[in-house]
Amino acid sequence: MSDSEQLAAAIRRAARECGYLDCGIASAEPFTEYEEGLRERCRRFPSATGLYEPMLNRVDPRKTAPWAEAVVVAVRDYGKYALPPGLADHIGRNYLCDRRVAACPDHEMPRHMTAALKRLGLRVKRGGVPERAAGVRAGVVSIGRNGFAYHREAGSWINLESWRIDGAPRLGRASSESPCPDGCRACLAACPTRALREPFVMRMDLCIAYLTYSAPAPIAADLWRAMGPWIYGCDACQLACPLNRGKWRRREPTPWLEKVRERLRPEALASMDEATYREVVHPLFWYIPETGVERWRRNAARAAEWLAGQGRCGD
Ligand code: SF4
Ligand code: SF4
Repeated sequence: MSDSEQLAAAIRRAARECGYLDCGIASAEPFTEYEEGLRERCRRFPSATGLYEPMLNRVDPRKTAPWAEAVVVAVRDYGKYALPPGLADHIGRNYLCDRRVAACPDHEMPRHMTAALKRLGLRVKRGGVPERAAGVRAGVVSIGRNGFAYHREAGSWINLESWRIDGAPRLGRASSESPCPDGCRACLAACPTRALREPFVMRMDLCIAYLTYSAPAPIAADLWRAMGPWIYGCDACQLACPLNRGKWRRREPTPWLEKVRERLRPEALASMDEATYREVVHPLFWYIPETGVERWRRNAARAAEWLAGQGRCGD
């Protein structure tokens, strides 16, 4: 095995030991296609320019790490978790299993991976790259028509994390093919707000993940109605996807969610007091821009009404 192959194997082994499902290595050359895609979206959707422009900072991995020779991309599989019944009807699974929450067992994975890369003698800087594009270049994921990254074992129920490194590990071979079956448009048809209006093009300013807390309030009435049961985030375009069938594997418990599950029901959130918001809700979703309890209550009241209209009650 050559030195570069040995280094690549050691990096992949480190990622597995840190709990990642998979890991690939890409070159640190600028992501020019990603840049072109962002600039095209800015041209086509001027009202969303403010959301796309900051992402241009990640086009060139060497912009803030001139020494970088490669990008390590690791895949975290959150479809391994058994979610308490009902919660994923109105809160995005990604956010329910968010490793930024200290109680999530995956919380320390990136820190451990940084330390492991340093132990291999590498200079390391976390993040700073477009992770989906880097994952494709590294050959560990491919992109579905809904814009999500898909891993062959875990579907789109994954997060990608990245590290820029010096050194010269053997690079992966880029994924060149779309994972989508010919003719499939299930994700586009499922998108409640038509944020996803053509393959691979998602309007960030219309996506429910943005509308729930980051968009200026009030939300236009037609969009508000279309947001239906979602209190935070939205999984509609992933739930509709045939590539995700059987990929939510429910092996690992979620005690940090079990203990608050009653308090995360739409009816409970719609009437929660300030103390519940501060002590229960905010710590689980602390990274959401601070919008206060009232916006949560409004989103929850809409969701409760929508679910009641479907003969469901959030559980
Ligand atoms: S997350 Fe929801 S709103 Fe956003 S593109 Fe997917 S289906 Fe549409
Ligand atoms: S729903 Fe169909 S088109 Fe959309 S990402 Fe899944 S397989 Fe691809």
